[in-house]
Amino acid sequence: ASRFRVTVVGSGNWGSVAVKLIASNTLHQSIFHDEVRMWVFEEVLPSGQKLTDTINRTNENVKYLPGIKLGKNVVADPDLENAVKEANMLVFVTPHQFMEGICKRLIGKIKPDAEAISLIKGMEVKKEGPCLISKLITDMLGINCCVLMGANIANEIALEKFSEATVGYRHSKEVAQRWARLVSTSYFLVSPVQDVEGVELCGTLKNVVAIAAGLVDGLDMGNNTKAAIMRIGLREMRALSKLLFSSVKDTTFFESCGVADLITTCLGGRNRRVAEAFARNGGKRSFDELEAELLQGQKLQGVSTAREVYEVLRHRGWQASFPLFTTVHEISIGKLPPSAIVEYSNSSAQ
Ligand code: NAD
Ligand code: 13P
Repeated sequence: ASRFRVTVVGSGNWGSVAVKLIASNTLHQSIFHDEVRMWVFEEVLPSGQKLTDTINRTNENVKYLPGIKLGKNVVADPDLENAVKEANMLVFVTPHQFMEGICKRLIGKIKPDAEAISLIKGMEVKKEGPCLISKLITDMLGINCCVLMGANIANEIALEKFSEATVGYRHSKEVAQRWARLVSTSYFLVSPVQDVEGVELCGTLKNVVAIAAGLVDGLDMGNNTKAAIMRIGLREMRALSKLLFSSVKDTTFFESCGVADLITTCLGGRNRRVAEAFARNGGKRSFDELEAELLQGQKLQGVSTAREVYEVLRHRGWQASFPLFTTVHEISIGKLPPSAIVEYSNSSAQ
């Protein structure tokens, strides 16, 4: 029987860790082809060398995950079309803002029976309303798409510290279990949940709450205030998810993708870190500027997700029910000062 060929579309911080997890499994499980292809958005390093060549020579993503070997069976490929053409299993893991463009380039270029999974936390907003990234992939490429979300700060998993994750699937538990086999290791435990929208919305919306938590850190408000912001944020996450998709299950919020991801991101994530710096600067330096300075090419998802959520709330007239989400956006665009996060977010706290 032919083996499943895996391609990972994306090679940032989490993308590189996902490749490492996958490459360790494809070597030892006969249902998968050994080689893992990784599409790299090509760039030239300060040394003058191309990132792709450097990854293939050193087996390390020296820019986005330095010091970690990816696995000898990983091949970095700067040519998107070539990277996907033989894959039966496509793993999407880029910052969400690039996915529409990537999908456009992939139309007609992938195997029609390929299966996909998205590790991407974020969404697009269309005229018709919000479009989750897994749906964007399904709509544009005509393939089924699961999601993998969880309390997964990439640098910690790269060091093989124990964590959990959730695979969200729509129809086939068998396909979800195959994805779990592809990514699970002794230190990375994956549970399938039949609630693709709930899982993806948890991963997407917690990034907005993480911005709020970072603002509270930058204002030196202490742990009780931060816990309150996280609780209010979790409540808004659940309320909005259920308004958008009545199928979303309460139990999903107790999986790794829900409360656990919210906690880790609000304690140790990049969204938190940049928002803290924003508040410490009194909102005088923009998120874009701080992102470039602090993250060195890695990307924030929370600020653009706050804008996308705000568009949805405004369009539906739901702003008053979501003071935390609304306030995060208004602070990020300079309409309100950072201190507004505490003044306004609790206006409908129950
Ligand atoms: P990242 O934040 O490291 O972003 C950098 C990547 O974006 C690089 O691969 C870069 O080449 C690429 N890029 C830059 N400009 C591009 C363009 N114009 N077109 C295409 N690609 C471009 O990426 P990441 O950490 O792998 O995050 C990807 C997704 O995974 C995000 O949705 C994120 O929320 C999610 N995620 C991240 C983590 C984490 O700890 N890093 C954990 C879980 C989930
Ligand atoms: P940040 O992008 O804020 O670092 O969050 C990472 C994450 O999603 C952890 O699960």
